[in-house]
Amino acid sequence: MTNVTLITGDGIGPEIADAARRCIDATGAEINWETAEAGVDVMKKLGTPLPEATIESVRKNGTALKAPITTPVGTGFRSINVFLRQQLDLFACLRPCKSYKGVRSKYADIDLVLVRENTEDLYAGIEFEKGKDDTAELINWLNAHSDRKIGNDAGISIKPISVENTDRIVRFAFDYARKMGRRKVTSVHKANIMKFTDGLWLDVSRQVAKDFPDIEFEDRIVDNMCMQLIQKPELYDVIVLPNLYGDILSDLCAGLVGGLGVAPGANIGVKGAIFEATHGSAPKYTGLNKVNPTALILSGVLMLDHLEMRTEAEKLEKAVAAVIAEGKDVTYDLKDDRDDPTAVGTREMADAIIAQIKRL
Ligand code: NAD
Repeated sequence: MTNVTLITGDGIGPEIADAARRCIDATGAEINWETAEAGVDVMKKLGTPLPEATIESVRKNGTALKAPITTPVGTGFRSINVFLRQQLDLFACLRPCKSYKGVRSKYADIDLVLVRENTEDLYAGIEFEKGKDDTAELINWLNAHSDRKIGNDAGISIKPISVENTDRIVRFAFDYARKMGRRKVTSVHKANIMKFTDGLWLDVSRQVAKDFPDIEFEDRIVDNMCMQLIQKPELYDVIVLPNLYGDILSDLCAGLVGGLGVAPGANIGVKGAIFEATHGSAPKYTGLNKVNPTALILSGVLMLDHLEMRTEAEKLEKAVAAVIAEGKDVTYDLKDDRDDPTAVGTREMADAIIAQIKRL
């Protein structure tokens, strides 16, 4: 048995966590679930949205399936999701974007995987606010060391990109491509403009690529990449990106395949991995047994792959695809008309997936 922490989250979290757990169990995967709490509900009880016991459970088990958590506004707590990523050094964000028959989209046959660096770049949170003493000091220093002058009314965000962190994310992308039988890795950058950050990223990408002669390698400038993904998405396979471009292109690619309800994700590091849907806690649907559990269930597919339970992963994905393609036992968002009275609830869609698994 493999121990996995199940973080049930808040909002629609507990409903989709229950659906995903039942579907994963139905594949026969030998998982011993350890349920842990996080989010606004537990904050009311324990005074913290992320109890130490939850962090400890993920640390101990190394793998977690996590339902969405509301980011509390105005409580002094930073995003729990960001905190967990930092605590466990989850440096790689994996976002597969795949077309499923039955999901409304302008495109068909998309099968892309985005690998986003999670720790550096403009997302590192190193910021200097306009008008502060530190900011003035930094601006003075920069003006003394550069031909370009920055005004005293500027705010500044820093963009660090290091050799070590670029090497590990690009290597992760190639390892993933090899493990999953994929043919090509595309590294995305703006090296023509940002020579010392994106230029470094590109140099390191090229170096790492030499260690993987069996996988094709190419690079693309980020703006061109956006256009190419809209015009010729079939040309791409695994795409590795720095943090900010990864954030933006993940949403672009989720849009190619029909949006949030079917977009799974994973954050993976050396010490652990957390698997979660791309969407949030959709608070207005809490407790209504209404929302689509697919994104978290497909995150479960990624988790089973990660745990080397490939047969179970395949079974689960096939069952989800079959239920969506049939279009009968699906939630409102997967119906042509969102008010279609034949739409089923979260629980019933999971039941249909479980029945399908049993038929495979
Ligand atoms: P959201 O993704 O929760 O919801 C936006 C809208 O998308 C919903 O109103 C709903 O119409 C639709 N939607 C989302 N998930 C769906 C599903 N499974 N099935 C059907 N429809 C679905 O985004 P939001 O409203 O911006 O965020 C709500 C809270 O979630 C915020 O506090 C935010 O910070 C948090 N959040 C958490 C995570 C996470 O835990 N990983 C991710 C994103 C947002």
